[in-house]
Amino acid sequence: MTLKGRIVIDAERCKGCELCASVCPHHAIHMAETFNAKGYLPARWTDSGDCTGCAACAVICPDAAIRVYRETPLRAVPVAV
Ligand code: SF4
Ligand code: SF4
Repeated sequence: MTLKGRIVIDAERCKGCELCASVCPHHAIHMAETFNAKGYLPARWTDSGDCTGCAACAVICPDAAIRVYRETPLRAVPVAV
């Protein structure tokens, strides 16, 4: 089963280095077309449904601008009958 993930990018911390976009195995990150307050084009997550929450983008980000959330599988719990 492929787990689903999602990320949140703090656009105001982002310096637009594009490292996160370059390492994403699912091409789920692109650069925005509008500048942030510092004058950079920040990274933008594309909710394509392909993000697995692998966290490669967050690990490589030099500005700690990415938070990653990953779906956890539900476990079957035995119940008394
Ligand atoms: S968590 Fe992984 S799959 Fe999701 S956007 Fe980041 S690098 Fe891509
Ligand atoms: S790696 Fe970090 S600073 Fe660089 S573009 Fe991505 S979010 Fe922005």
